[in-house]
Parts: sequence; C-alpha cells; structure tokens
Amino acid sequence: MTADMGLGRKLELFLLDLLYPNACPCCGKSLPWQAYLCETCQTELLAYPADAFCSQCGKPVHDCICGEGLAYDRAVALTVYEGAARKGVLSMKSAVSLQFGRFCGAELGKRILADDALSGYDMVAPVPMSRRKQLTRCCNPAAVLAKEVAAITRIPYRKDLLRDNGTGQQQHTLSAAQRRENTGQFSAGTVSLKGCRILLCDDVLTTGSTMNRCAALLKARGAAEVAAVAATTTQLKKTEPDD
Ligand SMILES: [Zn+2]
Ligand SMILES: [Zn+2]
Repeated sequence: MTADMGLGRKLELFLLDLLYPNACPCCGKSLPWQAYLCETCQTELLAYPADAFCSQCGKPVHDCICGEGLAYDRAVALTVYEGAARKGVLSMKSAVSLQFGRFCGAELGKRILADDALSGYDMVAPVPMSRRKQLTRCCNPAAVLAKEVAAITRIPYRKDLLRDNGTGQQQHTLSAAQRRENTGQFSAGTVSLKGCRILLCDDVLTTGSTMNRCAALLKARGAAEVAAVAATTTQLKKTEPDD
C-alpha cells in the first residue's frame, strides 16, 4: 500500500493520525497511520475478480445492461455496493474519510494498467457533484477516486470536462425511465475533445444513466471513447445506493 503513495501523502497521513487516530472507514477498527483500510475490509473489497463485472456496462455479469444502449464504450468496476464497500461509500459522502476512495482509486488504477483494452487513454475525469451536494459535502467522492486513478496510471486528471448545472433531481427518487430522461443536469466544458479517450470515474454505478449522460456529452465534444470507472456497482435486484 505505502509503495503507491508519494511522500506528500505519507506526511499528510502521518500528521492527520496525530490529530485523529487513523481508523478503517468501512468498519471503524483502529489502523496504523499509513493504512487506508483494515486487512479484513481490503480482502472483502478485492474479493471480486475483474471478470465478475461486464467489461462493457460494468454491472455484475448477471445484471448486464448492455442491451439498453449505452453511451460509454467499456467499463471497469472494483466491487459490489454492499457490506464494507457500501460503508466506505457512505464514509466519503459524510466526509468521515477519503481513504475508501483512495484505496479503490489505487486498485482500479492497477486494474486499468493490467488491461490492454484500457490502455492508451488520454484523460481521467470525475462525474461532477451536484451543486446542492457541493454545499454540504467537503469533497466529490468521484474526484477523490479519479485523482487516485490518475496518479497510479499517470494519465492527466481533468476536472474541467463536465459540470453540474444544478438542475438535477435526486437520482434515487426517480424511476429508471425517469433517470434516463433527467437530461440537462450536466453540461460539457468548451474544450474540444476530438479523438480523446476518457476514463470517467464515479463512486457508485447504479443504472448507468449518470455515466451515459456524461459520456454522451463528452462524445458530443468529440471524445472518441469513454470508459466508465466505478469503485462499486449495485446488484440491480438488490440494494439501491443511499444518497
Ligand atoms: Zn475495516
Ligand atoms: Zn454488460
């Protein structure tokens, strides 16, 4: 774990631990200053092999949604949104800790480097956070993830490709059909993305509608290919993400 960290990150973690003793964001167990997660939660998060998830849509293979017309071209997901992963996502939303996002970003970065189909991408970008959430949350979990993916893969991080217009309804209050029609929430920046291949990161992949809308906007700016990179993916017939 520490081999992936720069000196600045190590210093930050060491100093933070003096103020707030380090703990696993998924289970609360106390941890040495340099660890992101406890061994048990790490093992749980890494229990799924890469091929447990569809390489096109990013859902668990038994929940494949490829037939629904995706705007993104391929996908990589680390784990299923349940148990330790669900608690980790919630820990970032409540700003308890960024460690879950950093852990997942580093692991996704390694999977991207190991997958020939995901080589040669030009930029890493986060799904933007809604303006409403920007007021109450210290950070965008998708951005924490994306920055770590960028650091591991050495692909430039770009936060200016997409923005939230503040017009979106809370996704979890909408039906799947309504989510697809909830357009206009995002818009693309003004830069040309002609021919670019973009890794688009989010903390939870649910119906794919957020990724689809963002990917469609990037392609309208000229992007040649968009890959969805998700820390967690829901099992469609099981849990819905908490907002
Ligand atoms: Zn733990
Ligand atoms: Zn699929």
